[in-house]
Amino acid sequence: MAVEGGKELIFRSKLPDIYIPKHLPLHSYCFENLREYGSRPCLINAPTGAVYTYEDVDGTARKVAWGLNKLGVEQGEVIMILLPNCPEFVFSFLGASYRGAMATAANPFFTPAEIAKQAKASNAKVLITQASYYEKVKELDVKLVFVDSCPPETEHLHLHFSQLCEFEDSSSDIGEFEDIKPDDVVALPYSSGTTGLPKGVMLTHKGLVTSIAQQVDGENPNLYYHCHDTILCVLPLFHIYSLNSVLLCGLRAKATILLMPKFEINSLLALIHKHKVTIAPVVPPIVLAIAKSPDLNNYDLSSIRVLKSGGAPLGKELEDTLKAKFPNSKLGQGYGMTEAGPVLTMSLAFAKEPIDVKPGACGTVVRNAEMKIVDPETGNSLPRNQSGEICIRGDQIMKGYLNDGEATERTIDKDGWLHTGDIGYIDDDDELFIVDRLKELIKYKGFQVAPAELEALLLTHPKISDAAVVPMKDEAAGEVPVAFVVRSNGYTDTTEDEIKHFISKQVVFYKRINQVFFIDAIPKSPSGKILRKDLRAKLAAPVSK
Ligand code: AMP
Repeated sequence: MAVEGGKELIFRSKLPDIYIPKHLPLHSYCFENLREYGSRPCLINAPTGAVYTYEDVDGTARKVAWGLNKLGVEQGEVIMILLPNCPEFVFSFLGASYRGAMATAANPFFTPAEIAKQAKASNAKVLITQASYYEKVKELDVKLVFVDSCPPETEHLHLHFSQLCEFEDSSSDIGEFEDIKPDDVVALPYSSGTTGLPKGVMLTHKGLVTSIAQQVDGENPNLYYHCHDTILCVLPLFHIYSLNSVLLCGLRAKATILLMPKFEINSLLALIHKHKVTIAPVVPPIVLAIAKSPDLNNYDLSSIRVLKSGGAPLGKELEDTLKAKFPNSKLGQGYGMTEAGPVLTMSLAFAKEPIDVKPGACGTVVRNAEMKIVDPETGNSLPRNQSGEICIRGDQIMKGYLNDGEATERTIDKDGWLHTGDIGYIDDDDELFIVDRLKELIKYKGFQVAPAELEALLLTHPKISDAAVVPMKDEAAGEVPVAFVVRSNGYTDTTEDEIKHFISKQVVFYKRINQVFFIDAIPKSPSGKILRKDLRAKLAAPVSK
């Protein structure tokens, strides 16, 4: 075991720990001292230009909480949000928090089957969505709330978002629901973690308050957002990166959050120009699009002071290219994982008193948390500059997976360390470098693709007897899923296109299988585990189709 000063080698932030008000429910923490800044702009809805003040957002969220209560949502129950980035997403999430309920958000591009799986697994009572998704959700056993127009009569109880906000008449005192405990779950994103199918990740009030505080609170915050900042919110709020590091951190800092419902490079550049965006949290494919845009010089992007990439690895070359194009901005990375709350490390270049960082580094561990690197075989901690599994401990990590104690125990050990399934090392300056991924997860442009989910679908095909899915490197997406398939006896004519089509009908676009390789047998360990490393190695060598 690696030791320093006679103790196991554990890494901590270079910035001092801070006081974190862990007793506060998430909404009270985000809107603390609201009276002092209630009239400041909180949200801008980019498509309409509508501005909502902090008072508007807090007031509407409270009304939503009463509306949910009236709809029969009890404390501890789940509401589901199926929306692009828009003000109603924010009101609904915070409304659930005020109600003491949990919010699970899904990707609106999901197929009906994918949405149904999450709605059922989370036992959602109410679904807040928009009319254009009605066909996808009409079979669900939930009460429907539409943020735009209500579709014609359905068998469901359904209502318009404005009705949800009208249950309590405006003259009455809309107070708070009492007895929300720090360990109550407030957000329930879905993630496959290190193995298997997507699972509900239970993030508590205390966990999210801790995570936000680790980033933006204190005298010299690791991620310095202030009230004059305009933060670009183009990353989807259904993913915890955007929900936490963009929206909730932005609220805590009393900044203005610019909501953009979908990514398109020229609209993004135009919005940065128009609204003088100062903070741009992005993912590597957006960095690539910005770096390669031929129109970059048509816009004034000089307002950007922080360009933060996360969610997937950012190549050093790309980082260097961007640095050359934004010489006056702080550029760097954060590293997150849904189960970790999600932020584990953050570049110190973003601190109020910035520290120079190395290109390619993912930052240093956030404050009030501990990190170690362990040998995946022995579990022993490793010294600096040696690669091993990254582990994190602190109040920000998940409470566990919903209804899955076994998966929780596999991920959080008895000493409270969360094992990320990522391989990296920490150098002499405490900076973390991620070098590989031990876990099954595939990341397409920062979106999760769980091999187990695609394998289960492939095995339902009558002409397939066995299958395994692994990542293949891709310049634009980072990684794409590819399948190794064993044909069932007698089906020598099964084609790649047939299999690709079979899957693409059932999944969101980024889970589509990019290539199919037919093989005689899937390599497995004696216990039946797919030897994914062997398959990844095959991809490096030429494989016949
Ligand atoms: P998610 O739970 O969807 O946020 O995915 C988490 C995973 O994304 C991590 O466990 C890493 O494998 C990967 N990831 C996130 N941020 C980074 C980063 N800055 N560099 C490399 N990989 C990253």
